[in-house]
Amino acid sequence: MFDLTPEQKDIKKAAREFAEGEFREVARTLDEKEEFNEYLWKKAAELGFIAVFVEEKYGGQGLGYLEHSIICEEFARVDLGIAHSIASTFFGTQLLSLIATEEQKKKFLTPVAKGEAKMGVAITEPDAGSDVASVKTVAKKVGDEYVISGNKIFITNATRADFLIVLCMTNPESIKKHERFSTIIVETNRPGYEANKLKNKLSIRCSDTGEITFKDVRVPVKNLLGEEGKGFYYIMEFLNRSRLEAAAFGVGTAQGALEKAVDHVKKRKQFGVYLADLPVIQTKIAEIATLVEAARSLLYFASAKTDKGEIDHCLNAMAKWFCAEVAVKVADEALQLHGGYGLLEEYDVAHYYRDAKVLEIFEGTKEIEKILIGRTLLGR
Ligand SMILES: Cc1cc2nc3c(=O)[nH]c(=O)nc-3n(C[C@H](O)[C@H](O)[C@H](O)COP(=O)(O)OP(=O)(O)OC[C@H]3O[C@@H](n4cnc5c(N)ncnc54)[C@H](O)[C@@H]3O)c2cc1C
Repeated sequence: MFDLTPEQKDIKKAAREFAEGEFREVARTLDEKEEFNEYLWKKAAELGFIAVFVEEKYGGQGLGYLEHSIICEEFARVDLGIAHSIASTFFGTQLLSLIATEEQKKKFLTPVAKGEAKMGVAITEPDAGSDVASVKTVAKKVGDEYVISGNKIFITNATRADFLIVLCMTNPESIKKHERFSTIIVETNRPGYEANKLKNKLSIRCSDTGEITFKDVRVPVKNLLGEEGKGFYYIMEFLNRSRLEAAAFGVGTAQGALEKAVDHVKKRKQFGVYLADLPVIQTKIAEIATLVEAARSLLYFASAKTDKGEIDHCLNAMAKWFCAEVAVKVADEALQLHGGYGLLEEYDVAHYYRDAKVLEIFEGTKEIEKILIGRTLLGR
């Protein structure tokens, strides 16, 4: 296995203890009620589990993406919904750390990294999902303000965030399609901001997802993040890093489902023997355990490389796609090993099975990840 330092092993152990101690008991209820848990978010912040890759002077821990991956893995091993709901409160700090001004970092990054505010990133629109460059939300400069109008969908924390990084069209006249966009910070208490929660999701039900309408929302031009016309590229840079988080969720979900399967086959008897004594069952466990280990190695390698400043978008896309697919595959096999009991929510494996699916969809579908990898390798 990838060799973690003693400090990283300590973080892994502490994250596991926190998740085991605090998530297990409430996971099913939060899922049923589709409820974000403020206490768990605050507690995670207090224990130093959020935004660890943010510099210390802005409220983070000054650690790396590998440490963040380890924490996300351990949280998702117990419950992906809770893991995602906590990590999503600082979804976007990767980009703020990269391009925000000093003033923006103090105002927006620091409270989020300290667990005093929540944020999100609003890219997706009804007609712009995988095709990010089709975003239609417009930000028109009027005096020293941007006036924003448009719609977003599937935005995590749309109804909870204090502010969002919003991808808007600011330069429709630009000849190059990808140079028409900018990233703008929008506080959610501004007049004209309306958000509705999307209910009854299949996966990560305790993590809020919503749709947003911007009705002439006015923000000062100083809320522009980076330079005008570079928003599309900033979002790609952001995804190059945030994909590691999704990959970590995949490894954790797969590990959790594997453990459920191991536990069940050791207890369940058929034909007079424990399922665990049947060679076919042993083979199945061997296959899924190997997939989990391979996914973990890829995740740690990609995270460590990113921490060295070698941002390999191809490798990070491989990690995201592979770890998500492993989560779906392992959760499926784990449920199969439970037979009919696997379909009962009380045998938590059904929960892993439902949750895993979202990993192949958000932050770039698996098809888009593969296109990205293929194009890079083929020089297209
Ligand atoms: C729970 C959840 C949380 C989310 N959180 C956020 C968030 O915080 N912020 C945000 O901006 N977005 C968020 N999203 C949106 C997510 O990123 C999009 O759902 C995703 O990018 C896919 O877009 P789409 O749903 O419009 O699907 P589409 O783009 O319509 O894709 C449909 C299918 O077609 C395939 N496809 C599309 N184009 C191609 C192509 N060129 N070649 C081959 N296949 C293709 C896709 O792979 C997919 O299988 C979230 C989504 C979910 C479900």
